[in-house]
Amino acid sequence: MKRRTFAGTLTAASAASLSATPAPAAPAAPPAAKAKLALHGGTPVRTAKWPSWPRFNQLEEKALLDVLRSGQWGRGGGKAVTRFEAAYANLLGAPHVVATANGTSALIASLGALGIGPGDEVIVPPYTFVATVNAVLLHRALPVFVDSDLETFQIDHRKIEAKLTPRTKLILPVHMAGGPANLDEILALGKRRGIPVIEDACQAHLGEWRGKKVGTLGLTGCFSFQASKNLNAGEGGAVCSSDADFIEKVYTYHTNGRARKTDGSDFSYRQMGANLRLTEFQAALLTAQMTRLEEQSKTRETNAAYLTKLLNEIPGVKPVKNYEGCTRSAWHLYMFRIEKEAFAGVDKDTLLKALKAEGIPISGGYKPLNKEPFLANEFASPAWRAVYGDKTIRDWASNNECPVNDALCSQAMWLTQTMLLGPKQDMEHVAAALSKIQSQAASLRGA
Ligand SMILES: *Cc1c(COP(=O)(O)O)cnc(C)c1O
Repeated sequence: MKRRTFAGTLTAASAASLSATPAPAAPAAPPAAKAKLALHGGTPVRTAKWPSWPRFNQLEEKALLDVLRSGQWGRGGGKAVTRFEAAYANLLGAPHVVATANGTSALIASLGALGIGPGDEVIVPPYTFVATVNAVLLHRALPVFVDSDLETFQIDHRKIEAKLTPRTKLILPVHMAGGPANLDEILALGKRRGIPVIEDACQAHLGEWRGKKVGTLGLTGCFSFQASKNLNAGEGGAVCSSDADFIEKVYTYHTNGRARKTDGSDFSYRQMGANLRLTEFQAALLTAQMTRLEEQSKTRETNAAYLTKLLNEIPGVKPVKNYEGCTRSAWHLYMFRIEKEAFAGVDKDTLLKALKAEGIPISGGYKPLNKEPFLANEFASPAWRAVYGDKTIRDWASNNECPVNDALCSQAMWLTQTMLLGPKQDMEHVAAALSKIQSQAASLRGA
């Protein structure tokens, strides 16, 4: 295939995707609350499409083709990865960034560089994506769950200290949905007790705590560029740090334990490691996608603020709150809670079904992670029992109960970040669907 033909093919494909990109036309006024529920055969509040994702044009096409034609597809050959690392560091205001294959490997490399291993305990929240905990388990360290704060959905910083033991080697807060965990309290506690803090900022691109980007305040901050995230290359990740020595350990870990080439010698194995490198294709795509991030973030913020105003007017609907130190949320998700008493006692699953029928692609969010059967299965294996002993393993579940988080999981609902990228009328549809369902909730009882 000739080069021109190939480029032409790509352009045609993206033209199709671009034509689907513009936000849907402003919808008509939402139907009256008394209209029949869509779940019962009525007209849905919304039938129009939600905003498409990802968004790209010739900028991304050129970036990818440039790498393709260069023949330098992996880190080391070309310049795209190092260029992205510099650009992302600049965006965050962080001195050092190492790009990784994904967010999970950003966490694995950070914990590996810190020497987290068998016998160590790591403080984690129960309201997070499973990767936070898998990164701990892969180093054969014991996750210690600290309950959630019902209002913010974040780790409850007030409950961390009681869970610290002489074996606690790391506090690993997550900036859930892009709203920061309480970094003042967590960093102060870590400092007081001599325990490092690593931020799982995989959902928090451009989130800020007191004017500084989240991910830049702990020993490292870990980011994900997986397809659903606010900055997307299909897969991808990054570790940032202001500690020059520590970031070199992260770099070494992420490239099979080999130190950065400084003297031309190629096989300087410094420690155990893995191949967790990003490709040149992903880096080039990320550098292009990054030019859209600020504008998209502003749109999400505007829509999130408007939705919060609308939802605060509906009894029993509780939008997520951010701590006072949060100067910017990334709004990776828009989370809220439903108090079922305000919905005639109807259970969450039925409400989710009713909302979906009204044309709102809502998610029920995470289930209690500390109660996932795979954890108990893992800990029952000989390797875990050999390291931690039968008693620790036997008592693990009862030592890791998180009753507030259980309640949170039974009440939480989410919209994804892509739903915040359209016109503000989209937010009115979400509120209208909730009001409509609430006004007729009794008809859903036993549904
Ligand atoms: C997405 C995510 C990760 C993992 O990132 P991947 O790129 O999917 O490996 C880790 N932690 C949290 C909180 C996430 O949302």
